[in-house]
Amino acid sequence: MNGHDNPRIVGQVKEVTSLANPLIKDIKALSLKKFRDQQNAFMAEGLKLIIDALDLGWSIRTLVFAKAGRGNPAVEKVAARTVAAGGTVLEVSEKVLVAITRRDNPQMVVGVFTQQFLPLKELRPGNGDVWVALDRVRDPGNLGTIIRTVDAVGARGIILVGETTDPFSVETVRATMGSIFAVPVAKATQDAFLAWRNGFPGLVVGTHLKGAVDYRTVDFSRGPVLLMMGNEQQGLPDALAESCDRLLRIPQAGRADSLNLAVATGVMLFEIRRGALKLDPAS
Ligand code: SAM
Repeated sequence: MNGHDNPRIVGQVKEVTSLANPLIKDIKALSLKKFRDQQNAFMAEGLKLIIDALDLGWSIRTLVFAKAGRGNPAVEKVAARTVAAGGTVLEVSEKVLVAITRRDNPQMVVGVFTQQFLPLKELRPGNGDVWVALDRVRDPGNLGTIIRTVDAVGARGIILVGETTDPFSVETVRATMGSIFAVPVAKATQDAFLAWRNGFPGLVVGTHLKGAVDYRTVDFSRGPVLLMMGNEQQGLPDALAESCDRLLRIPQAGRADSLNLAVATGVMLFEIRRGALKLDPAS
């Protein structure tokens, strides 16, 4: 016996205290994109988030939990689900968890999942769907915040266009607060995206500091909507801007020359989804 209450995981949990353990080295390496790509994996922290991921059908490879989690029914249940899915369960010392997460006060549980991208050709917009295309987004905090906002407004997903920051980096995943598991993400070169855009069956709007149209004057209620947002430094390049049916501007007062990308995306998404967002009268 190794001290676990759950009979389904007794004998299945490996105890690890050494940072030199090869399994731990592989997990630590996931903080670098090169190794995330090599392993086609990424790391997510927190018990609730891992339960949500499993409920949504994501494939867990490794569950790591702190010794303090031993005997915790929720942790043991997730450990049993990991074992049932063919994954590995590691019980580690505080020192190992701090090293894996690079945090002084790490969450008690960390999961390693297989990366999942939606192939662009499988993305077929239906009526009422809203998709967000992000041109060369650079900042992981912006990308994570946008993924979380897409989830919050009930938009369908995100298309990353060109060279972008990695949606599976630790910083992005943290900023999504779990929405990385709920929001499909596709990626495409600018050319592949433009070819796909030609078949888009609804309204294609871009946001641009030189946009001629006030975003509040557009009727978004008919058919699917594709919203294009520009790179943080350069805005939308001409090829993308010219492919939009309309270029919209969010009016500003004051001295700021533009809004932060994630804020501008949030403003647009709440306007586009305005009709669909209702307060639940019971709440
Ligand atoms: N210097 C960049 C430029 O000239 O476009 C600023 C880019 S801004 C930080 C990032 C993106 O947010 C823009 O490309 C656009 O998609 C959106 N954005 C920010 N403020 C906006 C506004 N007032 N109206 C429309 N779009 C805006």
